[in-house]
Amino acid sequence: MSEKVFAVAIDGPAGAGKSTIAKSLSKKLGVIYVDTGAMYRAMALYLIREGVSASDAAAISSKCNTADISIRFENGEQQVVLNGENVNGFIRTEEVGNMASSSSPNPDVRKKLVELQRKLASEKSVVMDGRDIGTVVLPDAKVKIYLTASSAVRAKRRYDELTAKGETCDLAKIEADIIERDHRDMTREISPLKQADDAVLVDTSDMTIDEVENRLMEIVRSKTE
Ligand code: C5P
Repeated sequence: MSEKVFAVAIDGPAGAGKSTIAKSLSKKLGVIYVDTGAMYRAMALYLIREGVSASDAAAISSKCNTADISIRFENGEQQVVLNGENVNGFIRTEEVGNMASSSSPNPDVRKKLVELQRKLASEKSVVMDGRDIGTVVLPDAKVKIYLTASSAVRAKRRYDELTAKGETCDLAKIEADIIERDHRDMTREISPLKQADDAVLVDTSDMTIDEVENRLMEIVRSKTE
């Protein structure tokens, strides 16, 4: 990483509020927000469209090479571009999220996307969120935060989000999916989700968004002063 740029790495499980918080933090700091989960989701969308099965590791390895994934920013919002198409509108479904969680352990998928993430962080200051940012992608990041919340709280947040959109859903099923995804992300061989030794743990279970934002700004200040 060049001396002129700095990085805030935010890792944690699905539904901990990483993207909401990372987005607002990046605005306050005047740097770009890089959502790495969206890149894994774009790759998953590509694999689904290509008819690749989540359990076919060889097909995932060979197909991922024909996916050209990049990002650009429109009004400060990250847009993921898959083979020339802006796919932001297609990557937030449960189907794509589950495929992302199944295909992200693949070493060829990770190699490709980690390269892209490191390149972005070497050119510009970033707040970057994901699962392995502080441990693998940017081990020298100036600030590292591990954001988490109980599975019950994360499931309830997701449930409220979906019901607000008019979707009917089952809270117990959402929590079961979250627990299953955590387990996959935390036990995979390559780049498992875990707190970096030098990351600050923030448990948001009983915190409001304002409280989390303030806590993160406090951490950033203490690490950059
Ligand atoms: O954060 P989000 O739910 O969008 O991520 C989707 C999936 O992508 C995760 O379940 C995880 O398996 C994978 N991912 C990853 N490494 C990252 C970001 C996301 O493996 N840095």
